Amino acid sequence: MDLKELYQDIILEHGKSPRNFGKCKNYNHQARGHNPLCGDQVHVYLKLDKEKKVEQLTFEGSGCAISIASTSIMTELVKGKSFKASMEIIDGFLNMIKGGSEVKSNDLTEDQKIKIMSLSGVKQYPMRIKCATLSWHTLISAMENKDKDVNTEI
Ligand code: ZN
Repeated sequence: MDLKELYQDIILEHGKSPRNFGKCKNYNHQARGHNPLCGDQVHVYLKLDKEKKVEQLTFEGSGCAISIASTSIMTELVKGKSFKASMEIIDGFLNMIKGGSEVKSNDLTEDQKIKIMSLSGVKQYPMRIKCATLSWHTLISAMENKDKDVNTEI
């Protein structure tokens, strides 16, 4: 199996069986995101502990396989990380999708790096980039308590 096939398998699998789906108990941050171009909707629920570590991270939503897979992978990778590490992972992902280099983070395992890189193929399809980045922008909004819905077209 080559890398491209492995990446496709990861996206398909997460699109079919998203992780951390649903509303978590005792969330203290949340934000909604909408990508009108494709119809993707996401609602991110986040619990930060006293040290601002991501204790819980779940989501509800509907949309295309890329948006669901990207959100599912995001929750897996960011859950349990410190605020600073989370922001670095988010920045790294958004930079990678915009055509930058691979995501470098000391806070991700090799397995997690493969998962985040599985979304790298999306950058060849400009129409799908917003599908992949919607939930990550929505997570930033939740973490920073902006209390503002994310709309990829505004
Ligand atoms: Zn989409």
